[in-house]
This record gives sequence, structure tokens and C-alpha cells, in this order.
Amino acid sequence: MLTQAPKGTKDIFGAEMASWQKMEERMRALAKRFGIEEIRTPIFEHTELFLRSVGDTTDIVQKEMYTFTDKGDRSITLRPESTAGVARAFIEHGMFNQPQPTKLFYIAPTFRYENTQAGRQRQFHQFGVELFGSYAPEMDAEAISVAYELIHSLGLRNVRLKINSLGGPQCRAKYNQALRSFIGENLSSLCEECQQRAQKNPLRVLDCKQAHCQAVLKDAPVVLDVLDTECKAHFERLQSLLTAMEIPFEVDPYIVRGLDYYTRTVFEFVTDTIGAQGTVCGGGRYDGLIEQCGGPATGAVGFGLGMERLMLTLEAQDGKPVYAPYRDVFLGSIGEAGRTKAMALTYQLRKAGVLAECDTVGRSVKAQMKYANKTGARYTMILGDDEVSKGSAQVKEMETGESQEVSFAQLETYFKSRKATLK
Ligand code: ATP
Ligand code: MG
Repeated sequence: MLTQAPKGTKDIFGAEMASWQKMEERMRALAKRFGIEEIRTPIFEHTELFLRSVGDTTDIVQKEMYTFTDKGDRSITLRPESTAGVARAFIEHGMFNQPQPTKLFYIAPTFRYENTQAGRQRQFHQFGVELFGSYAPEMDAEAISVAYELIHSLGLRNVRLKINSLGGPQCRAKYNQALRSFIGENLSSLCEECQQRAQKNPLRVLDCKQAHCQAVLKDAPVVLDVLDTECKAHFERLQSLLTAMEIPFEVDPYIVRGLDYYTRTVFEFVTDTIGAQGTVCGGGRYDGLIEQCGGPATGAVGFGLGMERLMLTLEAQDGKPVYAPYRDVFLGSIGEAGRTKAMALTYQLRKAGVLAECDTVGRSVKAQMKYANKTGARYTMILGDDEVSKGSAQVKEMETGESQEVSFAQLETYFKSRKATLK
């Protein structure tokens, strides 16, 4: 128990860490190009926020939240998604007083108590974007273009974009009615959970993952058929924008998403290369959320992208990343004076931007050189009493075996001038 991470969580280190860092770097650079700024919200929020926003008949709220009472008797929940927290911050800090739109992104650990499997963890990570301050379909297209560009610039193949519209509250009411009567006619062929959901939130029934329910539901009425004129126009405009931006998409009327706050546009990026958990990214418009949480009526659209699923998809197509450790130089040492000098020079070189390493374990010279080799040192040095008193040492290039005497005063310049060829 003590030596095992909790079920559904994972340590990230070594080769995998290198991939994560690279991915996060690309996400930040890409967001910058789209004029989107980073936000970091707390990992936990008041439980009430999620009940209000995500919706109390959703799977997330009913089954998946890590909720606890803190020592001050408050109900606290580890965030099961980040839109609610970002929306709360948007209201709390009066961001709506700034010129709109407000464009924010996050890279965030996220928590859901789920049945774990490949691509489904209890602590996972999302990259997400939230755009606030417009009801126009142009902002939907902008949000989708960020996710599309990210997925494609990472080199992911076989990812399809599916879009749908859930309409506004009126269309939704009309659709719920149609759906309820369809479900009523087919109640006995649906699973128990669907039967329970039918009354409270019929839309959730469409989200059922059971194959026999899906077979019945493929004949269910389609929300696109009941959209009012404005919602229809919004959806059509979005499609022509995506076409103009050369972003391929499919309209899939059965995409409903697992959160209650969506209005009008919803979308998913789906791949079939990582098995059942194929949704890499999901998002949509949520025009009612800001007002519902106590802010002014504000149009908004966003998405959350599962970073583990992105990694799995990349691995499935390109194989696991290889990781080669690397150092510019290892400063080996013998005796106390040598060790002291090695520590001082290593620190000086590191401050100057050289990837220097020295012995902090107390190994023999032979063992130090073995370690230098294992950690990918390109150059090595050995500092003893002689080197310390003459103020210089041999710098050996490991690959060629060639050595050169370099004074300590010149070391920084020596390695910096080679920096161009160093990693
Ligand atoms: P699913 O239908 O797979 O449960 P979801 O609709 O619950 O997904 P969202 O709430 O839209 O997912 O979250 C956005 C993205 O976060 C998903 O598309 C997925 O890539 C990722 N994600 C969601 N839950 C998990 C999880 N438990 N582990 C890993 N990634 C996840
Ligand atoms: Mg889910």
C-alpha cells in the first residue's frame, strides 16, 4: 500500500516527463499565438459551484466527485473539470469589465472517481481554453481552431472533429419533450440507469455507453430538427466559418456531452487508435453559465482536452518516446581540495548556463567517470591537488578521447563557445 500510488493515479518521470514538458511547451506557445492567456485556479472549489454548473443529474456530480468536508465544516470538491473554476474567477475578478473577449487557457490536474482503464484515470490532466464575451459563432470557430491546430501541430493523425448544436433553452425544452416520449415508448429496452435518467434529464440518456441502449437510441429524435431559427442560423454560420478556415468536420446529432451547461454548439475530437476511450477533446458553448453562477449574462465557449489521451494517441502512432540523458560536462574530483573546487566551478558554470555536474556522493574517480558516462556527459575533467594549485585541468571530449588543458578562468568561455554544438 505505502509503496503504491492510489488507484487511478500515475507518477510522471523520465522519458515520459520529457514528453509532457514538450507537450506543455507547445500548448503554451500555441495559446500565445492565439492571444490566449494562462490562468491557474485552485485545485479545489466549493462543492456548490460544481452542483450549480456541471449539473446535479450528471455522472460527474452523481458519481465522480472527490468531495469532503474540511476542518471548517465547508463542503469542498477537487475539481472534476476546470470550466466552473475559470468561470468563477471571471466573475470574481470582474474580468467582464475588460475589453472583451477574455481568452484564457489552463493546464490542470483534474479529479474524477471513475472505473479506471487505459485513458481513464482518477487524476488526469486537461489542457483547456475558455473564451468569454461573445455570442457570435466566430468565437465558436476560434475555440475549435485552437484545438484543431494543437492536435494537428502535434502530428496526430486520424482524429475527426464532430460538431452538433443543442440549441438554446427553448429548443432544449422542446427536444426534451420529444426525447421523453421516444424513451417512454422504448423504456423496457433501455438499461436501468437510462430509465432513471429519462425523467430528470433525458438528454443524458443519449450519453449512455451501453451497446444495447445505443442500438435503441440510434432511432431517437434528433435535436437539429427542433432548433429555432436563430440557433439554426448560428450552427450554419459556424459550419461555413469552419469550411472557410479549412477545418474538416462532421455533423453528429448524437453528441450531447456530459455536462449540463452547454448551449448551442458542442463538439468532440475523436480517434479510434486508442480503443474505447477515443474522445481526446470535448467542448462547446455555455451562454447561461456565467449568469447562473452570479455574473452578468455573458456568451462563452470552451473545450477541455485530455492530455493522457493525447499522449496515448501519439504513442499508438509513433511508439514510446526514447529518452537520452545529457550533460555538457562532468567535473570529477579527488581529495578535499579537488572536491571543493569541483563544487565551486560547477556552480559557476551552471549560473553561466552550462549543464555541469560534479560528484556529490563521494564516489571513487573510476565510479565518477562511469556515472559521467551513464548520464551522457559530453566532456569530463578530473580535479585533484595538482590541478587546484596550477589553476587548470585537462578537459576530455568523451566521444573522441581528445584532451585539452584549460585554465579555470577560461572554463566558462570554453564551454560557452562550444554551446552551439552542445545540446
Ligand atoms: P468520457 O465520455 O470519455 O468520460 P467526458 O465527456 O467525461 O469523457 P469531458 O468532461 O468533456 O470528458 O473532459 C474532456 C476530456 O478530458 C475528454 O475528452 C477526455 O479526453 C479527458 N478525460 C475525461 N475524463 C478523463 C479521465 N477519467 N481520464 C483521462 N482523461 C479524461
Ligand atoms: Mg466522463
